[in-house]
Amino acid sequence: MSELRQDPTTREWVIIATERARRPHEFVRDKETPRNYPLRDPKCPFCPGNESETPPEVLRYSKPGTKEWQVRVVPNRFPALSPKGTVSRRTEDSLFRSMDGFGVHEVIVESPLHNVSIATMGYSDVELVLHAYRERFNALKVNPNLKYITIFKNYGETAGTSLVHPHSQLIATPVASHEAKRKRDTSAIFEDDTGSCLYCHLIHTELMMRKRIVEVTDDFVVFHPFASRSPFETWIAPILHQPSFALAPEDKIPALARVLRDTLKAIATVLKDPDYNLVLHTSPTDDEYDHYYDWHIRIIPRLTTVAGFEMGSGIYISTALPENTAAFMREQISASRRVKNAAGAQALTGA
Ligand SMILES: [Zn+2]
Ligand SMILES: [Zn+2]
Repeated sequence: MSELRQDPTTREWVIIATERARRPHEFVRDKETPRNYPLRDPKCPFCPGNESETPPEVLRYSKPGTKEWQVRVVPNRFPALSPKGTVSRRTEDSLFRSMDGFGVHEVIVESPLHNVSIATMGYSDVELVLHAYRERFNALKVNPNLKYITIFKNYGETAGTSLVHPHSQLIATPVASHEAKRKRDTSAIFEDDTGSCLYCHLIHTELMMRKRIVEVTDDFVVFHPFASRSPFETWIAPILHQPSFALAPEDKIPALARVLRDTLKAIATVLKDPDYNLVLHTSPTDDEYDHYYDWHIRIIPRLTTVAGFEMGSGIYISTALPENTAAFMREQISASRRVKNAAGAQALTGA
């Protein structure tokens, strides 16, 4: 029999269709999406040499002692929202509320190389990307009209990207989304009822149960959530309470870069480089010190499609058990480590 599961962080119900469930290895794609891109594409607006094709940059990290950039942040050429405009609301016939399309839409160009991805980048390069996320978040949050900042990444065509060059996006909005409010309200009610942080409690419980954990480091845990909306949905969360990503201790960024790179590399290796979306969930800009929320990164590999029932009901149907997919990832990761260690030992002994 299939099972309905409630996501404790949103109270949203998900159907885990166990009867239609596929075994984890059945989600491994037949073949990788061909991504044989050149190191540099003269037509790409994000490649070095084409900087004039983007609006003037708002942040640049350069290689020490050179003019070559490593990470650039630029306003989106075709922004969903613009910093011009006001946040005053208009209401027509007491029903139709609207406001200017005020906000900020930026692109974080993650590397000068056209054909890399976070999964294939070095740890120090991923660190720079995370520093750029924080720096832009902290710069924009001082504007009291920007209520919520979403940092996200669309990798591959089915995940919604139109440009191959490795990049993430940031959209700062004058209103918090329904999703952000629901997550916040759910954790606030939990804190009111129990006096505890919902996310700390969730992470502690996942660590105790060990059923859905993929990886644990000193500072972070990687797991497949209990009510995963889609197969292999993966969360990366800090083990200790940290409401705001932008205020998380700076000395933890190298550790986060490692765990993020390794997680995306494992997904790419095991599932044959699927498209994915990555979203950073963090506290709203005006409540970065709250007791009931922890930032976390959600990675959603695009292995299935959202269809009519999901659109009509808001209830997702997942065809995989997160306990099974997490176990599968653990096995695959430890198998690849055994191979690597054996190869390392051979190299050391000259065998
Ligand atoms: Zn490029
Ligand atoms: Zn917490």
